[in-house]
Amino acid sequence: MPKALETVLEINLAALTHNFNYLKLKLQPQTKFLAVVKAFAYGSDSVEIAKHLQNLDVDYFAVAYAKEGVILRDAGITKPILVLHPQPINFNTIIERCLEPSIYSAKVLKEFIAAAETHSQSQYPVHIKFNTGLNRLGFSPNKIDAIILKLNATSAIVVKSIFSHLAASEAKNELTFTNKQIDTFKNIAQEFETKIGYKPWLHLCNTSGVINYPNAHFNMVRCGIGLYGFGNSAKEDKNLKPIASLKSVISQIHKIKTNETVGYNRAYTSKGLEKTATIPVGHADGVSRIYGNGKGFVIINKQKAVIIGNVCMDMIMVNVTGINCNEGDEVIVFDAKYKASDFAESAHTISYEILTAISQRVKRVFISE
Ligand SMILES: *Cc1c(COP(=O)(O)O)cnc(C)c1O
Repeated sequence: MPKALETVLEINLAALTHNFNYLKLKLQPQTKFLAVVKAFAYGSDSVEIAKHLQNLDVDYFAVAYAKEGVILRDAGITKPILVLHPQPINFNTIIERCLEPSIYSAKVLKEFIAAAETHSQSQYPVHIKFNTGLNRLGFSPNKIDAIILKLNATSAIVVKSIFSHLAASEAKNELTFTNKQIDTFKNIAQEFETKIGYKPWLHLCNTSGVINYPNAHFNMVRCGIGLYGFGNSAKEDKNLKPIASLKSVISQIHKIKTNETVGYNRAYTSKGLEKTATIPVGHADGVSRIYGNGKGFVIINKQKAVIIGNVCMDMIMVNVTGINCNEGDEVIVFDAKYKASDFAESAHTISYEILTAISQRVKRVFISE
């Protein structure tokens, strides 16, 4: 692949295919695959990722907000799209663009039924979300009767699926809690099916759920981070391929003397004769200020160069003392080898956060190798 001449986020679509196939192999053949492409497909590019996955015959997509689903529809994505966190202000858009809402509260249920009736819909597919322990979004299990009462009073909507979300699917020390969530979900599903008189699809697992709880795949799984190459464990990280590489270039090199300072507020002071490199990537590109002052690092000519001083809006300065490098040389912030999860770890955060933080200012480049 060509060397970066400016800051780019390189997206490897062959790696995406690999991750999709790898995760699919963990499923029973009849289990459906929902690809989570919220937040620009975890910072990569939701349109390109969704098009690629649609060609690979993914069954479903999910986004967080209606607006993200509209972008996919505008780009010609025709597969069903679940909106995980819909808001009543967008219900008309959701119906007009054939997006399928998660219904997580009595208010949302009532307002969505009203919207579907206004649009003269019949059997519009919705997904009922239950809270089994995450305490984020979802009906309490004791609301089943109230939900069914509302559903029986309209033909405008139909329950396509019932779902919930695991709180700690990646945590090996939360086995008991997670198994309890799975049991709670099974009980909800059974009661709901009996009372409604038909069998909606069931789904519970995110990526780590797919990997750690093969007994809980139900009718469909919802994978995000795994598609993008991270398995939330050293073991699974080996089997997956990070699809995104953040690359940049050295803009300028400075040689500085002892006790000179670098960057805003003079946050870094040199300890001797040192060499610094200025890189055109800053907090406006998604490299937060938490990576500054010795925490984060980049790779230049295979060597680690630590970020010194404060991260600026458009630039960072790194310590390249002892590293053989020149202006114009390529810089790796993260790639398939120097992983985003390690970069994130340097500032005590997680892959999800650094990936989704890469701002729209950074050019996306697609490769397939
Ligand atoms: C984001 C999200 C997922 C995907 O989780 P990963 O850990 O990225 O696989 C699945 N389900 C819900 C409800 C989500 O919000």
